Amino acid sequence: MRLLDGRSMAADIGRSVVDDVERLAATGVTPTLAVVLPTADEAARSYVRVIERGAAKVGVGCAVHELTGDPDELTATVDRLAADPAVHGMIVQTPLPDGLTAADVGARIPVGKDVDGMNPLSLGRLALGLPAFAPATAAAVLEILNRAAVPLAGARACVIGRSSVVGKPAALLLLAEDATVTVCHSRTKDLATVAHDADIVVAAVGRPKMVGAGHVRPGAVVIDVGTNWTDVGLVGDVDADAVAPVAGALTPVPGGVGPVTTMLLLRNTVRAAGG
Ligand code: NAP
Repeated sequence: MRLLDGRSMAADIGRSVVDDVERLAATGVTPTLAVVLPTADEAARSYVRVIERGAAKVGVGCAVHELTGDPDELTATVDRLAADPAVHGMIVQTPLPDGLTAADVGARIPVGKDVDGMNPLSLGRLALGLPAFAPATAAAVLEILNRAAVPLAGARACVIGRSSVVGKPAALLLLAEDATVTVCHSRTKDLATVAHDADIVVAAVGRPKMVGAGHVRPGAVVIDVGTNWTDVGLVGDVDADAVAPVAGALTPVPGGVGPVTTMLLLRNTVRAAGG
């Protein structure tokens, strides 16, 4: 079984991001990401710290806007950042204040600054095959598959999870690469049989170790998007111990999709700045 090391892939992407940042610096531009944090949620806060550290490493500016949870303050802040020419990329962390949906807030982010694909227009453009930023996590799934040289055209891919931030965009990106995609969810009947048919299994469920050996065909590539905090620490959606002897390749948790996601967010910011 091949372990698909997200940390070393992220380091590789980081080196090319640094080159692009230096090229932009020569034209007087510092690519800058604005991170809006409308919540005291500890997981969101720790993810923001990860983004800040990554940005500092590659020379991307990162401004965190911590808010009180008031919906009007959030929309006003997003509108101000949307209009600010010194801000190239924007993300808004969830959970959002009561009364606001991700689509409400995302629609206020200009598509050109929408580096985590939160604007419904970005997902629509993705569905139509038009240029757009995909949600960074979904893009990370494809980045890992491509860097691992996994053949996608004609491959059977099973995406478990249909959220707008991970499952749906990952399915669209796989489809754009000519994979034959099945999207599963909580009402899917006989999930293990459906997943077992696939050459590539993407687990984006949010249930610790739910995907076991019975879901994985021998030699299949398994991408574990899950980040579940449990008593024993961070655990994926895949039971890695059970799946490792069966799978052909597997992303670890931690150290798989997560680091690539963060780096793609920063790469998107550089692209949004013209790099
Ligand atoms: P979500 O919005 O809760 O969506 C979960 C999806 O899983 C839903 O489509 C749900 O189906 C499906 N599901 C739930 N139980 C199921 C079951 N028993 N069998 C089959 N499908 C089932 O979660 P998300 O935001 O997509 O996140 C998914 C996971 O990825 C979480 O662990 C999250 O922490 C992680 N994540 C990681 C990163 C990263 O950078 N590594 C970023 C974002 C999220 P229904 O639609 O029918 O409810």
